[in-house]
Amino acid sequence: MAAAIAARRRGLNVTVADHSVPPIDKACGEGIMPDGLAAALHLGIRIDDSAGYPFRGIRFSESGLSVDASFPGSSGLGIRRTVLHRLLIEHATALGVHLAWGTDVTAIGTPVHARWIIGADGAQSRVRQWANLEASTRHSVRFGFRRHYRMAPWSEYMEIHWSPRGQLYITPVSPDELCVVLISSDPQYRLEAALPQFPEVAAQLAPPPGPEVSAAELRSRAACVRSIAGTWP
Ligand SMILES: Cc1cc2nc3c(=O)[nH]c(=O)nc-3n(C[C@H](O)[C@H](O)[C@H](O)COP(=O)(O)OP(=O)(O)OC[C@H]3O[C@@H](n4cnc5c(N)ncnc54)[C@H](O)[C@@H]3O)c2cc1C
Repeated sequence: MAAAIAARRRGLNVTVADHSVPPIDKACGEGIMPDGLAAALHLGIRIDDSAGYPFRGIRFSESGLSVDASFPGSSGLGIRRTVLHRLLIEHATALGVHLAWGTDVTAIGTPVHARWIIGADGAQSRVRQWANLEASTRHSVRFGFRRHYRMAPWSEYMEIHWSPRGQLYITPVSPDELCVVLISSDPQYRLEAALPQFPEVAAQLAPPPGPEVSAAELRSRAACVRSIAGTWP
């Protein structure tokens, strides 16, 4: 959506094709760093604190010890992914971006002629394969499980709690909601089972949690970076 907005602001006719249909949700820590907010503003998108919940920095905790640091300038923002997506859609629509939801992009479907194609199609990008830019075989997979808890944030920080088997990311996303994500290399290791490994967190989390959403995070190394001559964008 950001790429579409940037292209449209340069005067291009833009179509976004996505096989999902809004509101598009997925497992995510739901924290935007200050640079991300600045990048949005650069695209003309002001994301007010009221859209989510600001955090002043990052705190790492393990075995009763913790260290934190505040961002040097403005805050980050915890925000529900669906809320951010809605804001981007509203902005793109106002600019005249054509949005084709529920449209699967394939190599054998109806041809679409375009001067530029941006493959912002996620970690398993088909466009990257078609462009022969597929990553090398060196990669690792981590699994993320996310739940929302209906309770007031206890910290001004986005917190990352460490344990031998995984990490817990805690982001305030509204004055009465927390996003909690477990990330580990074990697909069987789920939030409920992991919480006893994080007693300081477990003691504070209020039941009942919302539904669990999962995602695989593929870390891969690009085979190469290609620069294409030209002045766009
Ligand atoms: C557990 C977890 C926690 C995270 N936490 C954070 C965080 O706190 N803050 C942060 O900034 N980032 C976080 N991230 C990373 C963030 O989610 C990704 O960087 C971001 O979603 C990448 O955006 P994208 O547009 O490239 O891909 P995606 O968000 O994956 O979007 C790709 C889109 O392409 C569509 N698509 C795919 N293939 C096709 C096709 N063939 N035809 C049509 N449509 C197609 C999909 O429907 C999808 O909507 C997290 C990731 C994980 C896994």
